[in-house]
Amino acid sequence: MTTAKLTKQMNKKFTSHLTCRIWQHLWNVNRGDVTSDGGYLLWSMPCDRCETVKTIKVRRRTGRIEGTSYVYPADYGFQGLGALDADKRGSIRLTLLDRFGKL
Ligand SMILES: [Zn+2]
Repeated sequence: MTTAKLTKQMNKKFTSHLTCRIWQHLWNVNRGDVTSDGGYLLWSMPCDRCETVKTIKVRRRTGRIEGTSYVYPADYGFQGLGALDADKRGSIRLTLLDRFGKL
């Protein structure tokens, strides 16, 4: 693999992570999986854009969601960053517009 090709892929991946941070993930329930855990169903679904996996814990009897967890890709650039405030989101939005050549 050439350096240019690798750099292009890294940039594409980085952009997808930024996009998810700004516009939220694209959860694909059709690619998801459901397992049983006692009185709960664990419904896992990947993001089509960045491959983060969201798992919701659903009470089998009522269908209510009683917990949510996320597993991020190993190279996910924003793990542990927590919630973004309006200023941080704005900064990332401008970074994306710059990457798309729209500034
Ligand atoms: Zn995502």
